[in-house]
Amino acid sequence: MGKDLEERIEAFAKLLYRSRYLVFFTGAGISTESGLPDFRGPDGMWTRQEKGLPPKPVGKPWDAFKPNPGHFAIVELQNVGKLEFLISQNVDNLHLKSGIKPELLAELHGNITKLRCAWCEKTVDRSTGKTICDCGGSLGPSLVNFGQPLPEKDLFLSYEHSRKCDLLVVVGSSLVVTPAADMPEEALRHSAKLVILNQGKTPFDRYAHIRFFEKIGDVLPKAVSRLKILMGLE
Ligand SMILES: [Zn+2]
Repeated sequence: MGKDLEERIEAFAKLLYRSRYLVFFTGAGISTESGLPDFRGPDGMWTRQEKGLPPKPVGKPWDAFKPNPGHFAIVELQNVGKLEFLISQNVDNLHLKSGIKPELLAELHGNITKLRCAWCEKTVDRSTGKTICDCGGSLGPSLVNFGQPLPEKDLFLSYEHSRKCDLLVVVGSSLVVTPAADMPEEALRHSAKLVILNQGKTPFDRYAHIRFFEKIGDVLPKAVSRLKILMGLE
């Protein structure tokens, strides 16, 4: 590991340590390390959704994909009591599968393994086979298609936590679409610090206090284990 990377990881761990209200924001980049296709590529799922096409088969069933060390590093932050909230653009269910508590997660684009109630917005696993929610509302796909409104509650919580945080960490998102791009803006406007881990450029790079272009799996787990040392847990 280069000295420069080591120093940035150390600085990142210190920001995590000092943060009082830590919020994470994740995009497809965190899941490509689990073998999932990039949703923004020419034939990516999100690109297809914008054209009104169904998701392309990903070669194996959705539930065959497993969370990777990047996902688990975020779970560790939750488990040591550091994570206030996680906002994700991903629909792949890997955050929940990795052990993130549902009440700490907003899924802005829905979740491919879940159905959502049209009335109360509660989500239910597809595997239950249910078509009607306990409240009597009908259950439909929770996945958000292009042009459809985003889930109101998830969106509201995302803005609220972005406003409240003192450190926003963006992982694997190019922050080009709204509302994704709104979150760092909200955070910065309220004097939060911003850390970005993304292999490609983002419009917020110049505002980032620390910037990583490296692979997520080479940065996040190391920063979290360094944090645990600072917290006296390791
Ligand atoms: Zn309902």
